This record gives sequence, C-alpha cells and structure tokens, in this order.
Amino acid sequence: MDITIVGGGVCGLALAHELAPDHRVTVLESSPGPRGGGYMIDFFGPGFVAAERMGVLEELRLRGHVFDGVRYGLPDGSDSGTIDAGPLVEAAGGRYFSILRPEVELGLLAQLPDSVDLRYGTRVVEVEDVGPERAAVVTAGGEVLTSDLVVACDGVRSPVREQVAPGHGPILPMGYRAASYLYEDPQLAHELGERMLMSDSIQRVGWLYAADVDQVGVMFAERVDRQGTERPVPDPDRLCRRFSGLHPQIDRALTHVPDSFYDDLVAQSHAPRWSRGRVVLAGDAAHAPSLLAGQGTSLAIAGAEALARSLRAAGPHIEVGLAEYERRWRPTAEKVRRSGRLSASAFIPATTFQLRVQQVGRRAMGLPGVSRLLSRQFVAA
Ligand SMILES: Cc1cc2nc3c(=O)[nH]c(=O)nc-3n(C[C@H](O)[C@H](O)[C@H](O)COP(=O)(O)OP(=O)(O)OC[C@H]3O[C@@H](n4cnc5c(N)ncnc54)[C@H](O)[C@@H]3O)c2cc1C
Repeated sequence: MDITIVGGGVCGLALAHELAPDHRVTVLESSPGPRGGGYMIDFFGPGFVAAERMGVLEELRLRGHVFDGVRYGLPDGSDSGTIDAGPLVEAAGGRYFSILRPEVELGLLAQLPDSVDLRYGTRVVEVEDVGPERAAVVTAGGEVLTSDLVVACDGVRSPVREQVAPGHGPILPMGYRAASYLYEDPQLAHELGERMLMSDSIQRVGWLYAADVDQVGVMFAERVDRQGTERPVPDPDRLCRRFSGLHPQIDRALTHVPDSFYDDLVAQSHAPRWSRGRVVLAGDAAHAPSLLAGQGTSLAIAGAEALARSLRAAGPHIEVGLAEYERRWRPTAEKVRRSGRLSASAFIPATTFQLRVQQVGRRAMGLPGVSRLLSRQFVAA
C-alpha cells in the first residue's frame, strides 16, 4: 500500500525503515535536510531493543559514546560531587550509551532503504482523512498526495493531534524551558574529558560535555510558568544573562551562543486515541514523555517499530493493525510519560533546601549498593 509519513525526524525515519520492505513509503520533511544542532541523549530502554531488532543498533552505537559520569560544579569552579555512569550501564545490562540526537537521525538515514521517497523541504499544511480507506496531505507548495495511510510523526507540537483527538492538540508544559547548542572548542572539550559537567544550582541548571574532540555540547534548563504553551523565541543575549555565573566553564561556553539554537518548553503530549480513519499519530506527536523521562528518542523508535509490526501482522486490515498498535504500545508509552511527570518537581531544585536534599542524595549514591539500586529503578522506569 501507499503510506505517507509527515515528519522525517527520528520517528519518521525509523518507521520508514520498517515499512519500506512491504509498502511504497513517502516521507515529507519540512526542514531542508537532516536537522543539525542538538543535545546528548541517553539511549536505553524500549528503543534500544527495537533498534537491535531493526538491525540499526550497531550504526547508532558507532555514533554513540559512554561517558564516565557526571561531575557537579559550583560557581567558584570547584566540584561538589560526582556520579559514575558505571552502575547505570551495568543495570541496563550494557544496553545503554549516549548519542547526539542529530546522530540518531543520521544513523537511521544511513540505513534507510533506497526505495523510500524522502522529500526534504516539503512542509505539510493539511492532513485529511478522505475515506473510504484513503487519506490526503496537502503541502505548502500546493501538492496533494493521497495514500492508504498517513502517519503524523511531526513532533510534540503536531497539529494533526487535534484532528485525531479533539481537545488534545495543545502541548502539556511541565514548568521548564530548555535550550541547547553545539560549538567548536577543542580546548574546553579536552578539559571536560570523559565527564559531563552539571551546575549545582537552584531554579536554573547548565550542562557541558565534550561532544567529540573538537565540539562542546551545551544545554540549559530553567523553571518557568506552566501556563504558556507558545514556543519561545531563541535570544542569545537573554540566554547569557539568565545562565551566567553557574560555573566558570559554563561562562566560557556562553561566549559562543550561536544566533540560532534549540529553545523550547519542556512538554508532554497526550491523546486518548491515536488514529482516526486512515490517519495515525506516532512518536512525540502521539506520546511525548518530555526530556524529564529521558526516553523520548527511545520511545519514538520503539513506537515506530510497534506500529510497523502491527500493520505487518494485520495485512490488508489496516484498522485492525492500528487498533493493535494502540493496544500493545500504549501501556509502555503511558508508563514512561508517568515517570516523566513524577520526576518533574525534582528536575531542577526550586529552593536551597531542595538543593541540599539532592546533594545528600548524591552522596548516598556513592554508598555501596545504593547506586546499583537507584540505577536499576531508573532503567526500569
Ligand atoms: C532538550 C531535550 C533533551 C532531550 N533529551 C532526551 C534524552 O536524553 N533521551 C531521549 O530519549 N530523548 C530526549 N529528548 C526527546 C527526543 O528528542 C524526542 O522525544 C524524539 O526526538 C521524538 O522524535 P519524533 O520524530 O517523534 O519528533 P521530532 O524529533 O520532533 O521530529 C518531528 C519532525 O517533523 C518535522 N515536521 C514538523 N512539522 C512538519 C510539517 N508540517 N511538515 C513536514 N515535516 C514536519 C520536523 O521538522 C521534525 O523533523 C530530548 C528532547 C529535548 C528537547
């Protein structure tokens, strides 16, 4: 059958990879090429297992890295503690690595079958269930594509969600805003070495890591009002003002903020149904857990694989396949979304008291057995 995928991010590419052997697949992606810029994600959980089954894991692993751990830094440049990654990797049975988000896209692209018609620079402006058994998309250029199934993999702010599940279109902000960028700084990359740096601070937090021998990755997050849903406008001056003084190395990285960088509210998405007629949601469009769960990319890959598997098993009975996808996959997606909500209040300490509690917790992580236990709980979440 003909399948149109809206969005060539992690979910869209993973889905195209899985559907290509059985179907004619077109992927419409609004950006002019693979999206660059990005942050380091932890890759483990259901997506890791799915990537293994899809035969793309080695490609991703080659592009990934295992850090020694995290060190916590204070404004005077001293460290207040460290956490080792070893127990986490061990608890995940070695099925864990860090990888830059754009590298996940590039890894999936490298493995994409030639039969997939991937069109960059093509923005979809309308998706419609035109029945019987057909759906259509309209591009900004005015082209209309009809197919047997349209899959919206267009991210957490997907407008298609409102169509499929009326009243559930808006994102669900978690009370944080995050920004990230990469820049060239071999000297700082060398100084950072194998440990990520995280600021030990309240209300706002900064992370630095060596993305490779030449590049430094920077990420910031701050507490914000939960009410707004508008995407913030990236502003380098604001970023510098807001996050200076956390740590001398972070201040150095703040002198290299590019004009354009990732900046958005930390948010989840929820839809009580994932399909309507021949239009179905996948990845963040269906079930974004937010960066607080640390598994958005993992879920996007595993959800894509689950959808492809259900469609394969249902053969020509597409509605049966869509219902089965939701029945099998929703419990896992909901569990991860819940864990994201549970960690929301503790993500960045709001007060000095909360900060002290976290510092004591970090010291306890160093005790025999405790770090192993907590790592197991984190991986199981
Ligand atoms: C700061 C931050 C840190 C994160 N950390 C982690 C982490 O540690 N671990 C983890 O697993 N996950 C993490 N995530 C989440 C992860 O990046 C996403 O959950 C994951 O990439 C979801 O993939 P997706 O393909 O569903 O959506 P997206 O990656 O958002 O892709 C959607 C694609 O659709 C395209 N698109 C949108 N609208 C249209 C349109 N109208 N027409 C055509 N194309 C369109 C977009 O250009 C984009 O390429 C983090 C996210 C953020 C913001």
